Amino acid sequence: MKETVIYWFRNDLRLTDLPALAAAGAGGRQILPCFVLDDDAAGDWAPGGASRWWLHHSLRQLDTSLRELGSELLVLRGATAHTLIELAAQVDAGLVYCSEAYEPWARLQQRRVHDTLWAAGIEVHMEPGALLHHPEAVRTGAGEPYKVFTPFWRACRQQPEPAACLPAPKAKAFAAVEISGLPESQWDLLPTRPNWAVGWEAIWQPGETGAAQALQNFIARALDDYSEGRDFPAANKTSRLSPHLHFGEISPRQVWHAIRQDGNADPKAAEKFLAEVGWREFCYQLLYHNPEIPEKPFKDTFGEMPWLADEQHLKAWQRGQTGYPIVDAGMRELWQTGFMHNRVRMIVASFLTKHLLLPWQWGERWFWDTLVDADLANNSCGWQWVAGCGADAAPYFRIFNPVLQGKKFDPEGEYVRHWVPEIAGLPDRYLHAPWEAPPSLLEETEITLGDDYPSPIVDHKTARESALEAYRIVKGA
Ligand code: FAD
Repeated sequence: MKETVIYWFRNDLRLTDLPALAAAGAGGRQILPCFVLDDDAAGDWAPGGASRWWLHHSLRQLDTSLRELGSELLVLRGATAHTLIELAAQVDAGLVYCSEAYEPWARLQQRRVHDTLWAAGIEVHMEPGALLHHPEAVRTGAGEPYKVFTPFWRACRQQPEPAACLPAPKAKAFAAVEISGLPESQWDLLPTRPNWAVGWEAIWQPGETGAAQALQNFIARALDDYSEGRDFPAANKTSRLSPHLHFGEISPRQVWHAIRQDGNADPKAAEKFLAEVGWREFCYQLLYHNPEIPEKPFKDTFGEMPWLADEQHLKAWQRGQTGYPIVDAGMRELWQTGFMHNRVRMIVASFLTKHLLLPWQWGERWFWDTLVDADLANNSCGWQWVAGCGADAAPYFRIFNPVLQGKKFDPEGEYVRHWVPEIAGLPDRYLHAPWEAPPSLLEETEITLGDDYPSPIVDHKTARESALEAYRIVKGA
């Protein structure tokens, strides 16, 4: 009889180019695929609502793919180490394979799983697969982790080309599953009261097939225009691969090779796109070497920042009711689709931390719960970058003017009109600053500010001055 090995799926929900899965099936062993719903493992950083929605659908897709290979995904609930030990006893397995993860809680978890299983006589083998380069692999000449993106990425580009992608194991590598796991109805991942994700299945296709299609679509539709188009939220010129990459439905190596092998791609656009994938690598290595960055500013002096605690302002921001159309459009896109365009993420994050002077951690938390691509490394780095306290961050005194940003990056107002339909009738000239519209025009377009659409909750000029004043305190600290 062939030896059974357990494959413990984590955020690596794919079958192709998965080094740990390929290693599990080596030597003719039979892979038993499982996923453990361990509600306490991630502590404060347990997946938020939107991520749970995605996870449900991604698990379902993986299960479908495994069934096509004569196996299935065994979904279990419980403390991970204990659950894996019980499963190993049931199927008489002495080996568990998994991918290495890099979030602080996940590193702790994998260490615990390794040690507990080892004590129970079960070996755990871990392989990397979530990044192009291991966070330990790329260091400065002095042997330190990088803190600045450009030299980091240059050093990555000097590494050998990522290895070729691995095929998915063949059907015969998988075991037929003869024990029962949790039925889908008990995964408890989908929103119920209310179901705010209505319609998301028409927008997103979680799972490995959806990820591969998103990549191919992007290459055909937008790669050549990426350098210029990526900043315009209405243009649909980015890949929307972020949730797929977060859940490991596609590997960065697959993305890398697909872009590099596309002989028709404009080299400049391809480089620009790969550099954005490089930002993901950079964020991961920052988190790896600075595990406190989801909570604490990278630059210590920002601990002195006199943040405000205005809950009303927070609510207005969350609900897309700030009176600044580009900010409100972004926040509504986020709530209604689980996603927000990168340019708009920067604008709304700048607005929260600088115009409203609210702590970046408040925004980070809201994104954590509402983004389908919520990712501990990218989210904390994104927020710290905008707030000015991160490694290689935007300077704090660079305060986005939401009106000018709107005019520049949504010049025809397509994005704002879609998400803020109550002011869609305004001409382009006033769309990003409705309070500047003459009363006669507001009357003509039947818009009453403060009633149909809010008046700005803060004045840009005053807010900017307060932010700069607060920053002077930090600078002097
Ligand atoms: P593309 O432009 O097509 O880029 C391709 C891939 O590169 C992305 O899928 C992503 O994996 C990576 N990438 C692109 N930009 C960045 C970046 N600035 N930092 C790190 N990786 C990047 N990204 C997340 O994946 N999860 C988050 O939780 C997250 N939170 C953010 C919060 C803030 C405040 C900001 C400013 C940015 C955040 N980002 C986050 C980064 C970025 O906005 C998204 O990765 C990007 O918008 C996803 O869209 P896309 O896949 O179409 O990107």
